[in-house]
Amino acid sequence: MKKTGGLKLMQEINQYIILKTIREKGPISRSDIAKMTKLSPTTVTSAVNGLLNEGIVTVGGIGESSGGRKPVYVEFAPDSKYIIGVSITNSCIGIGKVNMDAQVKEKKMYPGDFQKSANAISYTLDRISDYIAECEDLSLCLGISIITPGIVDAKKGIIRNNAKLHLTNVPLKEMAEERFGLKVWIDNDANAIALAENKYGKYGSRKNLIYIQMGDGIGSGIVFEDSIFRGSHGGAGEFGHISIDKNGILCECGNRGCLENYVSWPSIYNRILDHLEKGSPTTMVSHKNSKTLDISQNDFLKALHQNDELAISVLEEPVEYMANGIVSLVNLFNPDVILIGWGSLDKDSYFITRVREKVKELAFDIFTDGLEIQPTTLGGDFQLKGAASVALEEIFEVPL
Ligand SMILES: [Zn+2]
Repeated sequence: MKKTGGLKLMQEINQYIILKTIREKGPISRSDIAKMTKLSPTTVTSAVNGLLNEGIVTVGGIGESSGGRKPVYVEFAPDSKYIIGVSITNSCIGIGKVNMDAQVKEKKMYPGDFQKSANAISYTLDRISDYIAECEDLSLCLGISIITPGIVDAKKGIIRNNAKLHLTNVPLKEMAEERFGLKVWIDNDANAIALAENKYGKYGSRKNLIYIQMGDGIGSGIVFEDSIFRGSHGGAGEFGHISIDKNGILCECGNRGCLENYVSWPSIYNRILDHLEKGSPTTMVSHKNSKTLDISQNDFLKALHQNDELAISVLEEPVEYMANGIVSLVNLFNPDVILIGWGSLDKDSYFITRVREKVKELAFDIFTDGLEIQPTTLGGDFQLKGAASVALEEIFEVPL
């Protein structure tokens, strides 16, 4: 929906409220909308006609008559428009079409080893350009929503810092809007996925939720009383940089002993190499002495799922570090739910089970009573759903 100001504001607010009611309660009749919103039938009819013209709602069946004319139902049409969701990770770009219910309709993955070079942004913009060139229905596109690790000022649309991709103060929103002529949103990936969990996930009814993103680094998104907690520069939730050892490994942030240097994928990968050198048996590689080891995070997670001995022993220490970090989060925020996203991990795996056990062992009982620690509930498309959620949150926000 387009937002305008001035005299039309009241009408607009009513239309947003009516759309919200249709999204949440539809299929619904116009008279029930009027009853629920306490708006006049004329206001409801005129707003619904506007929404029908925009294609955002459709006629969805005819109800039972309670004496007079049979009521006609209207319902939300989530496929009538879409967002182009873009997920930048340190080693891959995902781009896809996501509908207005945060469902990913199609996606493309572009693996890229751009971590060492300084071209992550131009690479991303070029891939978006390729993707758009193939979109035949661009008139239905509401905009592009990009998520990335690092510190992001979502309001200003600037990537403040991403040390791994060598990005400092990149005005990505402005760059992309200028190049593509579409509305652009940007946000931190963990914040966006936490928002998606809160709006579209299984634990959406819980008001205090923390999402932890594992992978090349470690981040978190904190939903506090149903809103993303961003901090003053958009940097809240840098969970990977809480220090667990003042004499530990020197981190790229300048501090020592940051959690992510002990539990991120690169650190786990190095542990795998150490174990292989010792000759530990594993199903992950067929040639133990192979010099270049091509084990991906998903290979590792698959091996873990199959109770691979090496995969399990490699995780022993990272589980303890992770649990210690989570206990700090639990003590600070007392959340209802902690959700963990890591590659293809979407089942209650060995890793989650062990972390859960350890956290329950270490934290105050009063904080762990009823606390859920689970994998992300958004499925394999959690990153693109996260990207779209940022846009949808603003698009459907009542302009008060
Ligand atoms: Zn650090």
